[in-house]
Amino acid sequence: MTPNSDPTVQPVPASVVHQVDAADTTLHNPQHAVIALGSNIGNRLERLQSAVDALADTPGLKVKAVSPVYETEPWGVDPGSQSSYFNAVVLVRTTLPPSSLLERGHAIEEALERVRDEHWGPRTIDVDIVAYQGVISDDPRLTLPHPRVHERAFVLVPWHDVDPAAEVPGHGAVAELLTGLGHEGVAPRADLELSLPE
Ligand code: ATP
Ligand code: CA
Ligand code: CA
Repeated sequence: MTPNSDPTVQPVPASVVHQVDAADTTLHNPQHAVIALGSNIGNRLERLQSAVDALADTPGLKVKAVSPVYETEPWGVDPGSQSSYFNAVVLVRTTLPPSSLLERGHAIEEALERVRDEHWGPRTIDVDIVAYQGVISDDPRLTLPHPRVHERAFVLVPWHDVDPAAEVPGHGAVAELLTGLGHEGVAPRADLELSLPE
């Protein structure tokens, strides 16, 4: 979309237009955030796409990038006890504060029929806030960055795809962390694709 196709955006000289990100003109002081999606029940790809679409429909939030889809082994549970996950990472810019972003994530989980029973149990969709700008917080309701992201190749691999220079606040470069972790249990599904809503 060209900036001028949005009637709310005032025309500006052509030399400036190409430097202006659409989010900068439609949102006040947007912040970068990274969101991880996971699903291991039902139509996993459809669930991931619905979550991406719902994020894109969120007022004050613009989806900037959607990663490739990975099929991953369940993490932190007995091998073979759950079916495999589809995972992806979404980069957004948003004027929502972190707490509202988390609330929106929970609302999306509810809309997609997530049932919370066992910890790390199977789920139709999981929406985690991986990072919000460089914010570091140990609040258990919203820990930033996500407290286990630096140990999880199933998040770091797709995050690295969409932002090779990414850093986990307080833990260093995603690329470095991946060198230590490896890609085991994280298989690209090049046959599948999530679309980035307009
Ligand atoms: P994990 O946190 O290890 O990925 P999980 O995603 O299965 O596990 P949930 O049951 O989805 O855990 O979430 C439990 C609680 O974690 C949520 O109610 C939420 O308040 C809290 N939480 C803390 N930090 C975050 C974060 N960065 N993103 C999402 N939820 C978080
Ligand atoms: Ca999670
Ligand atoms: Ca979660």
